[in-house]
Amino acid sequence: MIREIPVTRIQEAVETLLSQAAYRLPADYLAALGAAAPMEASPVGRQIIELLLENSAYAQAEQIPTCQDTGMAILFLEVGQDVHFTGGDLHAAIQDGVAAAYAGLRKSVVDDPIRRANTGDNTPGLIHYEIVAGDRVGLTVLQKGFGAELMSRLQMFPPSVGVEGVKRFVVETIELAGPNACPPLIVGVGLGGAFDTVAHLAKKALLRPIGSRHPAPHLAALEVDLLDAINRTGIGPQGLGGRVTALAVHIESAATHIGALPVAVNLNCSAPRRAKMEI
Ligand code: SF4
Repeated sequence: MIREIPVTRIQEAVETLLSQAAYRLPADYLAALGAAAPMEASPVGRQIIELLLENSAYAQAEQIPTCQDTGMAILFLEVGQDVHFTGGDLHAAIQDGVAAAYAGLRKSVVDDPIRRANTGDNTPGLIHYEIVAGDRVGLTVLQKGFGAELMSRLQMFPPSVGVEGVKRFVVETIELAGPNACPPLIVGVGLGGAFDTVAHLAKKALLRPIGSRHPAPHLAALEVDLLDAINRTGIGPQGLGGRVTALAVHIESAATHIGALPVAVNLNCSAPRRAKMEI
């Protein structure tokens, strides 16, 4: 049985989620940040964590953005195959929702990577569609700051690099980022697929709740190893030294070609704004 959903419903959901995400950081992130404070050996690092928590509480109470860079809107839609959108163009409705949400937020999107004219309303948002079973629509938004996006990396390795090569690449990415990605970080790692797939996997890894583990035991163990190695770099909160450089490493993986071991690392910063809704 087909379920009809007006595109205005999606538009309103996009606006609501992006507006709320700007000043309300995810509860799992705040809990992880709070739990990390006693583990931070550096007094400056501890003070930064406390300031980040205070900033978040203030932003939520006053409904002002957690960070001045309210980012680029990245939207993930899981569309049930039994859904029929009515009342107009879905893509246009989503972009209208993005523009409405950003009316009072910083506009950070340029229309062309070379000419660089600001679009004036933070559109276009970047949309990923996935067709799934059922008659529901899952909508997840990321309000992605680009300090962390700039420090993200991708490498098409040969398989001979092995798990040790993967670890070196991930840790090297964090070291190259230093303070520029605004740690404590959430580290999304994509493994496998092809050139385009692996970047998408790394981005999707940022959507997972902090503390969740990959279902495959060897990749769950790799997440733990990587987090430990990253937190031994000494970069610390905001890059001023300490143990808490990252709060989580999430790996998303896919089948790949016999000749390749694609790896992508997508970083999220200390303003990891995400929100979701089922429609
Ligand atoms: S990387 Fe994140 S915390 Fe740093 S300025 Fe950008 S949005 Fe803000």
